[in-house]
Amino acid sequence: MYENNLAFVIQKDQEDPLKNYRKEFLIPTNDEGIELVYLCGNSLGLQPKKTSNYLQQELNDWAKFGVEGHTDAKNPWLPYHEFLTNSMAKIVGAKPSEIVIMNSLTTNLHLMMVSFYQPTKNKYKIVIESDAFPSDKYAMESQLKFHGYDSNDGLILWKPREGENLCRFEDLEKIMEDQGDEIALLMIGSTNYYSGQLYPLKKITDLGHKHNSLVGFDLAHGVGNIQPNLHETGADFAVWCTYKYLNSGPGSLGGCFVHERHANNTDLNRFAGWWGHNKQTRFNMRHEFDAIPGAEGWQLSNPAILSMAAIRASLDLFETAGFKNIIKKSKSLTSFLEFLINELNDDRINIITPENPEERGCQLSIQVKSANKNLHTQLTKNGVISDWREPDVIRVAPAPLYNSYQDVFEFVQRLKKVLN
Ligand SMILES: *Cc1c(COP(=O)(O)O)cnc(C)c1O
Repeated sequence: MYENNLAFVIQKDQEDPLKNYRKEFLIPTNDEGIELVYLCGNSLGLQPKKTSNYLQQELNDWAKFGVEGHTDAKNPWLPYHEFLTNSMAKIVGAKPSEIVIMNSLTTNLHLMMVSFYQPTKNKYKIVIESDAFPSDKYAMESQLKFHGYDSNDGLILWKPREGENLCRFEDLEKIMEDQGDEIALLMIGSTNYYSGQLYPLKKITDLGHKHNSLVGFDLAHGVGNIQPNLHETGADFAVWCTYKYLNSGPGSLGGCFVHERHANNTDLNRFAGWWGHNKQTRFNMRHEFDAIPGAEGWQLSNPAILSMAAIRASLDLFETAGFKNIIKKSKSLTSFLEFLINELNDDRINIITPENPEERGCQLSIQVKSANKNLHTQLTKNGVISDWREPDVIRVAPAPLYNSYQDVFEFVQRLKKVLN
C-alpha cells in the first residue's frame, strides 16, 4: 500500500484532497527561509494565515466602537463565544449546549472538580493514568489535599504492566473491582500525551458509572486529533486546550464539556461568576445567581475576545475541511510514518504508540534505545521540530491540516541520517 520513495510521496501529496490547507498556514523556516519539518502540532499548532485578519477585525472594532463593540462590533463581543459553539461541538461530538470555550485547561479542570469531585468519607479516591501530564496530576493532588485527604492514599494510578508501555483496560477494571467503592472519580486523558495511546472512552465511562464513580476526560491531546464523541460516551465532564491541534496560538482559551444530564443539576457545587448568569438578566446586576442551563452556566468572566478570534479562525478551517476528512488523512499520514520507521529496520527503535489506528491519534512516540537528548538536538539542527521526552522518546505528530507526506518522508530520512 505504501512505498518508500520520493516519487510515491509526491504522488500522495498531489492526490491528497486536503493538500490546499497547508497553504492556509504559516510554516516556520530556518534562517535561509527553507521550511522546517514541523511535527510538533501536539504541543503548539501552527498559525493559520487568516488568524491575523480575525484579530484585526476585533482590534478595528475596538478602535471604532470602544465599549459599544460589545453590541455593535461586526461580531458582537457579548455573545462572541457562541460563534464558536457549533463547530467546536462537532469536533468533540457534543450537543452545542454541552460545551463552552472559557479560561484555560487546568483552570477548567479545577472548576469541573468543584462540581464533579464531591468526596465523602468512604468514597473519595481519584484514578488517573500513571503517565498523566504533570499539570493534571498536580491538579488532582491539590484537590485531594484541599478536601483533607492524603494524596498518597487518595490518588490511584492506572499503570502499564512491568515491561510494557501502554495501559490495559482489564487493569482498570481490576482497580474498580478492588476499590470501586472508594473511588469518587476517574479522570483520564483521552489520548495520552506521552505514549499517544487513545483510551476506550465509552468503556471507561461505563465502567466508572457501574461503580457509581463520576468520569471526566482531559482532551488536551485528543481535541482536533481524534473524535471523542463526548455525548455518546456519557462522560460527566471534559476539558481541553485549543493551542495544540486546534492551532489557536500560545496560551489561548480552553474548552469545557458538561453532559446534558447535569445541565440543570442544582445538587452540584459550582464556583460561579456573572458570565454564567442568565443572559437576559445579567446586566440587571441582581443579587441572586441564576445559572444558564448547560455548560455556559459554568462561565465566570467575560472572555478574551482576541483569543476567541484566533480560535474562530482555526475552527473555520476545520469546518470547511470537514473533521471526518481530516481524521481520514490523519490515519493515512500516521500509518505512512509508521511504515517508513519500520522500513529503517533499526533494532534500537521501538514505537510505543499502539499499532491499531483506532487506539491512537496522529502522534507516534518513538523510543530510541540508548539514545539521549543529543539525538533530538541533532534532529533540530537538521530542520526537524519534534518533541523529546526523557529518557529516550521522540514524539512526532503529523497534523493532517498542514503536514504533508513529504514532511513525514523527510523526517524519517533525517532521523536515519542522525542515527547513523
Ligand atoms: C498541554 C496539556 C496541559 C497544559 O495545561 P494548561 O492549563 O493549558 O497550561 C495540561 N494537561 C494535558 C494533558 C496537556 O496535554
